[in-house]
Amino acid sequence: MPIGPEDALKLALDMAGVVERAYVPGYPVTSLAMAAGSKMAVNEKTALERCLGASASGRRALVVVKQLGMNVLSDPLAISATHTIGAGLVVLAGDDLGPRGSQLEMDSRNYGPVTGLPVLDPADPADLYCAVLEAYSISEEIMAPAIIRASSRLLGAVSPGLQPREGSPFSTSEAWRSLSAGGRRFDRSIWDLTARGRHQRFRQRAHPAMQRASSAAVSEMPERSSGSLGIIASGPPSIEAAALGLPVLMTAYANPIPWPAVLDFLSRYQTVMVAEEPGPFLESHLLASGKVIGRLSGHLPYGWVEKEDLKAALKILSNEKPLIESQPQRASDRYKKTICDSCPFRPLLEALSRIEVLVAGDAGCVIQANRPPLPAVDLVYGLGSSIGVASGLKTKGLAVIGDFALAHSGICGLIDALWQKRDLVVVVIQNRVAAMTGGQETPDLTSVLLTLVPDLIYVDMPRSAEQLESLIRGELARPGTSVLLVRGTCPAPRTAE
Ligand code: SF4
Repeated sequence: MPIGPEDALKLALDMAGVVERAYVPGYPVTSLAMAAGSKMAVNEKTALERCLGASASGRRALVVVKQLGMNVLSDPLAISATHTIGAGLVVLAGDDLGPRGSQLEMDSRNYGPVTGLPVLDPADPADLYCAVLEAYSISEEIMAPAIIRASSRLLGAVSPGLQPREGSPFSTSEAWRSLSAGGRRFDRSIWDLTARGRHQRFRQRAHPAMQRASSAAVSEMPERSSGSLGIIASGPPSIEAAALGLPVLMTAYANPIPWPAVLDFLSRYQTVMVAEEPGPFLESHLLASGKVIGRLSGHLPYGWVEKEDLKAALKILSNEKPLIESQPQRASDRYKKTICDSCPFRPLLEALSRIEVLVAGDAGCVIQANRPPLPAVDLVYGLGSSIGVASGLKTKGLAVIGDFALAHSGICGLIDALWQKRDLVVVVIQNRVAAMTGGQETPDLTSVLLTLVPDLIYVDMPRSAEQLESLIRGELARPGTSVLLVRGTCPAPRTAE
């Protein structure tokens, strides 16, 4: 029976007895996480911390985040590698290729080398099912979390069934078939070691186990051939590469790289193309061989890789086409999205676009007001960033932030601004939903704001742009931190999925 990523994930989690499931919404993982019965968290770090607690007490746990969320949870994730955990813990990172609903195209596989943790890179929903079971197995063996990178292409794919397809690197691995029942609790004897000792233990014990698991999950089609050109592939591009009919080595793990198989493959081909997405992760590790081609060499475009891109790379290799010199994509060629016509906060953004100071905005709906016809915000350094950024501006700053972004991490910027007595005006848009990711309910921080800022200014929409402009100009003219809580109802939350 055909199976999609949502069913594949849910079946694997049920099979592994995963009790704690946490997520932060965002393209491309919202529907995947919701289908798995995950509970929303205010931010990714909190989601991981919740799951670390579950793991320590013997409950297997899952965190689902988008690629940008990996940056937010990276501190406890990196520490957990040497600290050790209890029951298996998996972080599923959805990489938005394109990107379609993100500020940044990012390759989460890079968190493997950064944290030292294993990263699995499934190609289709059947692989995802195997990868989840494999990840819990390796996580419990090394007593540290495992990462699964699921690209947006995988999340839109369908497999004929749960069994790995012919040539899947999971077809050779036994680990996912032999996951034990139940997880273990955290063993506090790890504190007998110093921080250096915990690092030594991790490198000496966990790394050989990870390398064994990675080396057991590779496949080559046809086996042990040799010649002028072969392909090393990981993730969804493996399927495109296999369809070309050229020799392909497919890897289930991006970290650690299955070095014995990869070095052996490199020794048998004059040139090796690396098919992966969205960045040159494997290619950059294999560059020193002097044999690989891919993005860094100008044969493949950045972002997702289609079969046509691989065919074009072969033409470049045979000098039928020139190397790729891509032009930066322009917003005017792609984006039509802007603030909804029916948005109750439109007059606020119009007012902000008329005020001649730098405006720090935030991810969410506000970021869409960054170019004509509504150029309200100037700076957006990610979700929850606006208050901190505005507090550093040379003249009195202006921040505009949604209520989910405030709960996510913006509240820390406000605490810092008040503590350091910064001059700024904070405009909090309160619609009580995460409007860009499907309208999930967000926490009501009104009482927290009132505690922090007793002279909180309430603004209930509708108000005209002129009224709002006059109010904000008045607050900009006086010293200190002013906070406006602008309340309205989003008539139609969006979803990028
Ligand atoms: S999704 Fe809702 S809050 Fe966001 S711009 Fe549209 S109407 Fe406004």
